[in-house]
Amino acid sequence: KGAIDDCSCSVETIDSFNNLKIFPRLNSLLHQNFFRYWKVNLKKKCPFWEDDGKCAIRYCSVQPCTDQEESKITTKKRDKSQNWASKSTGSNLNIVEVETYEEIPEGIKGAVTPNGIDKSQSLDMKSHMTVSDCDTENALGYLNTTLSKESLDGFERWAAHDSAQDSFCYLDDESSVDSEYVDLLLNPERYTGYVGPSAHRIWKSIYQENCFKPTQSFRPYADFRNIGVYLFSELCLEKRAFYRAISGLHSSINVHLAAHYLLSDKNGFAESKDGVWGHNVEEFQRRFDPELTGGEGPLRLKNLYFVYLLELRALAKAAPYLESLEFYTGNEEIDSDVRKAVEDLLAVIQSFPEHFREETMFTGGLQATKLKEEFREHFRNISRIMDCVGCDKCRLWGKLQVTGLGTALKILFSGNFDQPLDQQLNLSAVKQTKFQLSRGEIVSLFNAFGRLSRSIMELDNFRQEILR
Ligand code: FAD
Repeated sequence: KGAIDDCSCSVETIDSFNNLKIFPRLNSLLHQNFFRYWKVNLKKKCPFWEDDGKCAIRYCSVQPCTDQEESKITTKKRDKSQNWASKSTGSNLNIVEVETYEEIPEGIKGAVTPNGIDKSQSLDMKSHMTVSDCDTENALGYLNTTLSKESLDGFERWAAHDSAQDSFCYLDDESSVDSEYVDLLLNPERYTGYVGPSAHRIWKSIYQENCFKPTQSFRPYADFRNIGVYLFSELCLEKRAFYRAISGLHSSINVHLAAHYLLSDKNGFAESKDGVWGHNVEEFQRRFDPELTGGEGPLRLKNLYFVYLLELRALAKAAPYLESLEFYTGNEEIDSDVRKAVEDLLAVIQSFPEHFREETMFTGGLQATKLKEEFREHFRNISRIMDCVGCDKCRLWGKLQVTGLGTALKILFSGNFDQPLDQQLNLSAVKQTKFQLSRGEIVSLFNAFGRLSRSIMELDNFRQEILR
């Protein structure tokens, strides 16, 4: 309940805005092919310590799209069980009913136009995207050619370099043989059983080594608990915001695992084919109840609202750019529906009256520039720590959400969006702004925001269950 620290907005305002206006629209959109496939490298070595080894629990595994036989079967199953999505959200978006693997639209597999690739469109293609693939080597070859550095002309190379400089994340190299498309709907974020020293090492390293520390009278983090309490007395807004964003992301992950918990598994954890998944109120209370967490739980939940506001603002700020994209999959009718749905969502987002005010951050000349650089470096480091997560499912969603948050930070703080973009934004205007986002960044931004939006909706469900 109540005000969200460092913002002018309250929990109650966001609850009603999100649950009534944002979540239904976003949930429907994220079922669309454009947003469903994300290319990721889950095989990268941890750059900071020897891998603890991969988690062997079956719920940690990820099914990439390249396994065609398996993909055919699971796609079919999923689409039958998820047709409710279009009805329950009340959206008029067409949910693609992909019955077999072969029915995935051609554009998704890489065929752009019957006439091949129009070179003059290549910059636009980078953002409107031709991609996601669950198909043949040829399709992957096509993508690699389209997006490889060699194929970029002078301007594009310069823009790509610029974009990388502005980035808050180390992005996976999409042309690496180890990068694979993952269908996010087939690999949902939920309880995996990834607990103990490996998971703690990640969180500990994020908070202790990569969040900012107070400079004076800093008490070493001998006690991993109550980290937030020491930090807040001495930190400036930017450093508090950094901590709150990470803590909010952590809360969101933990809300999801409590909301999609393995409730029964009669054959034993590792053997079970299908468990029963649902809300685990005790797990939620263990993590967030004020009495069970020494008062920290509610503060952590408020951080979830804080990071929600950050991403909400980034989407509002980038709206003119995002509205200019094609969200190309090759199916004209569906692509047009998706563009309309994106426009509708962005209009609602822009109508929010109490947006986060990023212009209050990093003000004050050289000092501020230095701080922003440090902020970016810390966040980049966190994006690399995601390659140390020992559970593939957690790594997938961790990478996606960190990339999404990094994209939001890039929109808010790279400076490229500080001038209002022309409403009639066209390709050349996009070129002039030197701003561009890759499809991977766009998909991760919408999906990361979708995770936060669902977490906030789940909080309402938990509230009602606890009060019942
Ligand atoms: P943890 O959540 O591991 O927290 C460790 C310590 O951090 C706590 O003791 C507390 O002092 C502090 N802390 C906890 N929450 C916050 C907060 N919000 N803000 C600040 N400090 C906090 N598990 C799954 O089942 N499914 C997943 O999809 C999943 N994804 C993950 C993704 C990543 C990137 C990581 C690192 C872990 C993921 N996990 C996932 C594991 C999960 O987050 C927990 O680590 C695990 O459930 C063990 O929980 P815990 O109670 O020991 O405390």
